[in-house]
Amino acid sequence: MNPLLQPFDTAPFSKIKNEHFKAAFLEAMKDARAEIDAITSTQEKPTFENTIETLEFSEQQLDRISSVFFNLNSAETNEEIQKIAQEVSPLLSEFGNDITLNEALFERIKTVYQQKESRDLSVEQQTLLDKRYKSFSRNGANLSEEKKKRLREIDAELSKLKLKFGENVLAETNKYEMHLTDEKDVDGLPEGAKEMASQLARSKEKKGWLITLDYPSYVPFMKYAKNRELRKELSLAFGSKAFKGDAYDNQETVLKIANLRHERATLLGYSTHAHFVLEERMAETPEKVHSFLNELLDKAKPAAEQEFKQLEDFAKDLDGIDKLQKWDGSYYSEKLKQKLFDLDDEQLKPYFKLENVIEGVFKVAEKLFGLHFEEVTDIDTYHEEVKTFRVYDADKNFISVFYADFHPRAGKRGGAWMTSFKPQWKKDGMNVRPHISNVCNFTPSTETKPSLLTFNEVTTLFHEFGHGLHGMLANTTYPSLSGTSVYWDFVELPSQIMENWCYEQKALQLFAKHYQTGEVIPMEFVKKIKESATFQEGMATLRQLSFGLLDMSWHGADPSKISNVKAHESKVFDGTNLYPDTPETCMSTAFAHIFQGGYSSGYYSYKWAEVLDADAFAYFKEKGIFDKEVATKFKDHVLSKGGTENPMVLYKRFRGAEPKVEALLERAGLIKKAG
Ligand SMILES: [Zn+2]
Repeated sequence: MNPLLQPFDTAPFSKIKNEHFKAAFLEAMKDARAEIDAITSTQEKPTFENTIETLEFSEQQLDRISSVFFNLNSAETNEEIQKIAQEVSPLLSEFGNDITLNEALFERIKTVYQQKESRDLSVEQQTLLDKRYKSFSRNGANLSEEKKKRLREIDAELSKLKLKFGENVLAETNKYEMHLTDEKDVDGLPEGAKEMASQLARSKEKKGWLITLDYPSYVPFMKYAKNRELRKELSLAFGSKAFKGDAYDNQETVLKIANLRHERATLLGYSTHAHFVLEERMAETPEKVHSFLNELLDKAKPAAEQEFKQLEDFAKDLDGIDKLQKWDGSYYSEKLKQKLFDLDDEQLKPYFKLENVIEGVFKVAEKLFGLHFEEVTDIDTYHEEVKTFRVYDADKNFISVFYADFHPRAGKRGGAWMTSFKPQWKKDGMNVRPHISNVCNFTPSTETKPSLLTFNEVTTLFHEFGHGLHGMLANTTYPSLSGTSVYWDFVELPSQIMENWCYEQKALQLFAKHYQTGEVIPMEFVKKIKESATFQEGMATLRQLSFGLLDMSWHGADPSKISNVKAHESKVFDGTNLYPDTPETCMSTAFAHIFQGGYSSGYYSYKWAEVLDADAFAYFKEKGIFDKEVATKFKDHVLSKGGTENPMVLYKRFRGAEPKVEALLERAGLIKKAG
């Protein structure tokens, strides 16, 4: 018997064998197809219930099998699982395509959609209907046969170009190495970085040290290497990736991608690619994104210029640098930071024993939302290191299962993330509660020391736990609108807001205690953590804004007039440059976020999310960081609502107003607090 095809509550990990997966996927897809056939072949007139709602619940079994499988593939994988993933992934995308290209199904959905005004639908039902309808229309379901054909051609062409873009950047990254044989040339590098560079050289049977364009090699060199000429060489190599006019050059690729995206958008009736993307974002329109970026730019620029002046003066005093260049920034910033704040991770780590931090985040959740976490051992897991909890609210109602998997292992990918094994939904009078998981790669314990976290790991834990709360506190009817299933520029609000508690004395007192002495973290450390967190925030903001503006310049207007990638880029960067421009370098030709990944017309959302979390946390600061009333509003209007309504509406219900940029600027120390 295949345990994945039997009804189960928590995932039956210990019973699942690898050979169960593919069979379960095939069976669940067959069942889901049969249910969809039943929707399209009925003689009944299409209604919300017999079409949209039935469709919503038709893929549930498949979704659960997918979440068990793909979570394992991220957290506890092996060659066999990876092989299954390669076999199953194309079947799943074929299944997805069969639905979005199913014309009979679309006809029924369209009928319901066109009559939505005359039907008595709740707000959540309207949202679900819109979402379903758009998943078809945005894929060309309303187009003529001829235009549909063109759309498919564009999609095929775009996926090839994106692949090529990525391959070129990767080839350029791998092709370059800086071979150093004189110890003076690695002067300034910390021991760890030096060791890595010499290991790399040895692995290629070379003497001395090898520096590459991979981040773990590139970043420390730019930060610490004393030799300015070598920093310049490395910086120019990094900045000129896929911009040398050779076989790996991406200039043509960039122009083609931008133009095809524009054509695709206009084919579907949108003015630009950005209009198409932003239709399903909180920001809604390119105009709004532009005014958001420009407002922040106006306000952050004076601070950035001041910081830059300070850095110039510092470099001049220290080494007589006359004109500060791009390859000097990271190096002198690090020196200046050391001078201003002599605080390092090793001093802080004893206050952040993992167990204490977990207890701390649970206490914060209890103070805010009345949640209780009870560790249990009767829930099946995929690895003995995974901890399991049952979560209850203040009235002892069961809220969620919570899995926590904290340390690196051979089968786990890097980074930290939140995921779920089961979403929340309501059906037949039952409120089915979710199974949420946090997976991280924190410093493990050793024989002599417990797991002590860096401050960065502490904020990461709070961040992922915030996503976790979004999942755990979900209270919606439809699973596809539940928890973190929200617009993309809204999803980081619950996670980022949680990080704020890590900087508050009142919260730190709850858990930041020395693992040997029990002493609470000293106030001067807290002050330094806060101050160093906003070091050069103006310059960093300017940099993020310039990337956002570059993204919008490629996607927010007709790109057909752009013929010179570098000239276009220079014009866009005109208002945000602090360092002199270098003609050898180009950002766009290696800007993988927007030309290869999924961030096109979305780069702004990094800053957007910060504005949201700062503005939301300012409300807590105003009333008290553990204020029950504000917390309850946040839970009722944001955390529990998932994607059931437009995020701006939800946010305004919580905050009483639209988010303003001021709270972020104050937190970042870019403007003085008013009054
Ligand atoms: Zn996140």
